[in-house]
Amino acid sequence: MHATVLERQGQPLKPVMLPDPEPEPNRLLLRVAACGVCRTDLHLRDHEIEATKLPVVLGHQIVARTEDGRRVGVPWLGWTDGECRYCTTGRENLCVRARFTGRDIDGGFAEWTVADERFCLPLPDSLSDEQAAPLLCGGLIGYRALTLAGDAERLGLYGFGSAAHIICQVAVFQGRKVFAFTRDEDTRTQQFAQTLGAVWAGGSSETPPEPLDGAIIFAPAGPLVPQALKALAPGGTVVCAGIHMSDIPSFPYADLWEERTIRSVANLTRQDGHEFLTLAPKVPVRTTVSVYELERAEDALADLRAGRFEGTAVVVP
Ligand SMILES: [Zn+2]
Ligand SMILES: [Zn+2]
Repeated sequence: MHATVLERQGQPLKPVMLPDPEPEPNRLLLRVAACGVCRTDLHLRDHEIEATKLPVVLGHQIVARTEDGRRVGVPWLGWTDGECRYCTTGRENLCVRARFTGRDIDGGFAEWTVADERFCLPLPDSLSDEQAAPLLCGGLIGYRALTLAGDAERLGLYGFGSAAHIICQVAVFQGRKVFAFTRDEDTRTQQFAQTLGAVWAGGSSETPPEPLDGAIIFAPAGPLVPQALKALAPGGTVVCAGIHMSDIPSFPYADLWEERTIRSVANLTRQDGHEFLTLAPKVPVRTTVSVYELERAEDALADLRAGRFEGTAVVVP
């Protein structure tokens, strides 16, 4: 089969031919229809997080069909042991032996993939393959971050990429006011945020017109943490939603005082997946996608790094 693989971290992805995968028992053989690109793929490519196997087929927002034509979604959480202290307390996202799609298990930048059926998710019929793909990480993990921001009425989104463009729509549907923060002077993305219902959009160094009850940081930039903290009302929460972030600069205790909270979000549970994928068609969530041929997956990563598109890049075989 055709695939585009990461052979060495720090090097471009390469189009190659691989043997067709053969599923073990309880695994589904899946023909990939579309695979969303996530910043985690870029972190693996750029060696900002460690690969666990090489070569690896990246891609963990997979829309695929079973041999009998059923459409399923394959997310980042690919396998858990079901028996550790986290799995047995409803926190399988923290499973000590978790295996992740597109890192520990070959992912979706390929014509075929194999997935554990128990971790596949049903997708809403209302979205095409390309438009459904971004729901599977940007949507799911973004939704988990939104939930952990509590009932924040005034919500800041720092970094308005794949996850934020979905979560903005969900937050507006829930009756929240969204304040979108982009790179300073990125007026194109600020306008994009306003078309999705943000009441205000500006640069991340700007002070929003009202204090925030919660903020979600999707951009991998540590200096945004103290900036977001300064924008929070008492009792507010900053949620760091990425798998990787540059170091967080020190800040005065007064900025954390009055019960402000900083927390991270790791991975997803299947429960998050089912909740979000039930909610998405009610909003209804629409995704903005840029489609790349499979052999151009490296270009998709380069364009993500450079911020050259709005919404999500999607790779199609
Ligand atoms: Zn992801
Ligand atoms: Zn476990």
